Amino acid sequence: KVRVRFAPSPTGPLHMGGVRTALYNYLFAKKHNGDFLLRIEDTDQTRLVPGAEEFIVESLKWCGLVPDEGHGFGGDFGPYKQSERKEQDIYRKYAEQLIETGHAYYAFDTPEELDQMRENLKAAGVAAPQYNHITRTTMKNSISLSSEEVEKRLANGDPYVIRIRIPRNEEIKFKDMIRGWVMVQSTNLDDKVLYKSDGMPTYHLANIVDDYLMNISHVIRGEEWLPSAPLHVLLYQVLGWEDKMPQFAHLPLILKPDGNGKLSKRDGDRLGFPVFPIEWKDPETGEISSGYREKGYFPEAFVNILAFLGWNPGTSQELFSMEELIETFTIERVGKAGAKYDPDKARWFNQQYLRGTKNEELAKQLQPRALEMNLSEANNLEFLAGVCGMMKERATFLNDILSEGIYFFEQPSEYDDKTYRKKWKEETPALMREWKEVLNQLNDFSASSIESTFKSFLEEKNVGLGAALPNFRLMVTGLGMGPSMFEIAALLGKEETIDRMEKALK
Ligand code: GLU
Repeated sequence: KVRVRFAPSPTGPLHMGGVRTALYNYLFAKKHNGDFLLRIEDTDQTRLVPGAEEFIVESLKWCGLVPDEGHGFGGDFGPYKQSERKEQDIYRKYAEQLIETGHAYYAFDTPEELDQMRENLKAAGVAAPQYNHITRTTMKNSISLSSEEVEKRLANGDPYVIRIRIPRNEEIKFKDMIRGWVMVQSTNLDDKVLYKSDGMPTYHLANIVDDYLMNISHVIRGEEWLPSAPLHVLLYQVLGWEDKMPQFAHLPLILKPDGNGKLSKRDGDRLGFPVFPIEWKDPETGEISSGYREKGYFPEAFVNILAFLGWNPGTSQELFSMEELIETFTIERVGKAGAKYDPDKARWFNQQYLRGTKNEELAKQLQPRALEMNLSEANNLEFLAGVCGMMKERATFLNDILSEGIYFFEQPSEYDDKTYRKKWKEETPALMREWKEVLNQLNDFSASSIESTFKSFLEEKNVGLGAALPNFRLMVTGLGMGPSMFEIAALLGKEETIDRMEKALK
């Protein structure tokens, strides 16, 4: 059975890259009728950021990526938070198993000794000092200790770590679903710490043990984890779990719009777009970083944008609902190359969703904001739907409808100067007065009736539409452009339209 997990560390807010990882895991799971798990990887307690965990969960919910199992979502393989698993002492026995089989060892090096070792190696010209097959034998409090000595020290309560004993000259290889064969010489890896004397496993051990115990079939995660993958493969081998080793897929980076490097958490507001799904308030500085939700993106549009950052369907279709994504998504169509984020394209996606959503639905989503703004007619859903219908072709975000269509709710207090200077002639007031009277007599105040009446009125007066219509619009909306003026008048109603004309003609 397909079982995948999203395994964030709550060391900060989830950004676009993280949500994309969650999305691809979700799509892959749903496509194969599998399970999507959320596991909180909080082994590094020193790097925890308050609120990050809640932020992750809220972000996933907003995007519609609800886990089948996980921390806060239940399931048979819990707990799903590593600090809680540590409390149940889940990890220790695996570290000890590796010691017994000779694949790991105790090291009692002090921080000073480790610093000294690195300095010595640097002085000898080693650019990136490692704790490896050479180092472990030169450190006097490490692998060369006798087992009696180790026992004594453990009994004494000396602080220790358990390190993996990387074998020499072995080729470690695995087939990545996106990158194909990945091969590494074991000599290039170092003896990573797996377990610490405070009882906390490191990320590497906890991640492997949990994937194994939770029956994870596929590990889909960001490219930044590719360098750790050989160690993970080795851990499966030395723990004797090779037959249960998941398949790996390392996703490409998301790049800045200019393609120059990885999109970072700091880029967002600096470059003028959000990098977080929802707004994030830094608990330390109080600084607020914008979110897609608060900017007015539809979650469906955000998901659609993310889906295309690294994947494409191989057809020209760009708009996909979640159901369509589930149906179409395959790991095979995920690319290796970094995917550039295009903020204009992102807005385009939102615009498409805005246009594709029914007016009644938009009205419902817009109403809270309209009420908050204390707009007249905020309670009138039918009216709001009418405004949405006229404005949605011109808007990118839902709230644009209110800001750019504010004249539906308020009489104009100013009139567009450019239109006034270009179109408002000496004879205009008289003409518009007459037109107002015609409107006053009109029984059928529908858009089509207003339109045909206006046209025959102008014909009679021998005035062109281009000369008269902008003035009608200017009086009623205060602007020189907008949706069909006849529809606007019809929606506002006879009384309001005439009232506005009278005010403008004063
Ligand atoms: N905890 C790791 C992270 O924060 C998980 C990496 C993985 O998926 O294995 O991304």
